[in-house]
Amino acid sequence: MKKIQLLPILMGVLLVVSCVKKGPWKGQEIVLGTAVTISVHDCGSVKGIESKIEDIFTEMKELDILWAYKGEESDLALLADNAGGESQRIDQYTFDLLAKGLQFEQLTDQAFNIRMGPIKELWGFHSPNPQIPDSADIGSALALVDGGMFFAGKSCLLGLAGMKLDVGGIGKGFAVDLAVDKLIDDGVKAGLIEAGGDLRAFGAPRTGEKWRIGVRHPRKPDEFYCILNIGEWAVATSGDYQQYFEVNGKRYHHIIDPNTGYPSTGCVSATVLAKTCTEADAIATALMVMGAEKGGRWLEENPGYFGLIIYFDEEGNLTHLISPELEDSFSLH
Ligand code: AMP
Ligand code: MG
Repeated sequence: MKKIQLLPILMGVLLVVSCVKKGPWKGQEIVLGTAVTISVHDCGSVKGIESKIEDIFTEMKELDILWAYKGEESDLALLADNAGGESQRIDQYTFDLLAKGLQFEQLTDQAFNIRMGPIKELWGFHSPNPQIPDSADIGSALALVDGGMFFAGKSCLLGLAGMKLDVGGIGKGFAVDLAVDKLIDDGVKAGLIEAGGDLRAFGAPRTGEKWRIGVRHPRKPDEFYCILNIGEWAVATSGDYQQYFEVNGKRYHHIIDPNTGYPSTGCVSATVLAKTCTEADAIATALMVMGAEKGGRWLEENPGYFGLIIYFDEEGNLTHLISPELEDSFSLH
């Protein structure tokens, strides 16, 4: 990993899009708690692209229902309500998501953990009043985070009563991949799908330029830290600025270290490039937990994943690590 000193900078989640023959055709809806944008830049010979985009949003909204924390049709609520009891049949999408989640748990030595539901509830980041939980409550919730998950056919059981899944660190990426795969299957040639800053580009922009994105500056909300040429890659960014509160000048954010039950401390933002957005999403969350040093080593040891980790050095200056493979596509803003 190469360490580069920070220059004055910019950041956010801007898309600097090149290309376009006709169009682009765009759709935007709120799904999975975030704004999802589908932009098609070359629809090939596909007819009725607008209705294809609408169909994809309809399918994404099914994910919203399946992965809500409450509701009769929610798989996550079904599994939580029956934790420690009977195995429950789940939808194929949920099954695929959980299988991927467990795969990334292993790949990241459990820095990424899809069983964080009880801890997430204690901190209340998705409620109007997040707060520092009682340390005894964190201890009890941590015991549930390590509870077993058991699969038989398309059924799943959370082994301990009280267990709850939390797919907030991977669901957006899964939804982006779903959209991209469907568009490509339909014959669409180029586009970019974004869900709350996690995105995947495919096809070649017609102008000959590359897809480029701005990575948000973690401490200057209206600025970019850098611009990345991303080609046909998926990109996800996790950061301590997305959901947080402060007590006595200390920041408490929504990405929690499964070893301690407290917000991770080793870096302020992690951007990952991977072939799929599901991977990029899960690994960006995991790198936040690992922190700059361990996260940098992880990137070196795991070919096929490239990253930019922004952190405060010992003198308190904002700086970053970047995978050498990304250096040519990187420009400080
Ligand atoms: P992201 O923005 O993709 O990093 O996702 C953050 C969300 O992931 C949080 O709001 C939680 O719902 C969930 N989360 C928090 N900590 C973890 C963790 N260690 N592993 C997996 N998901 C987590
Ligand atoms: Mg994530």
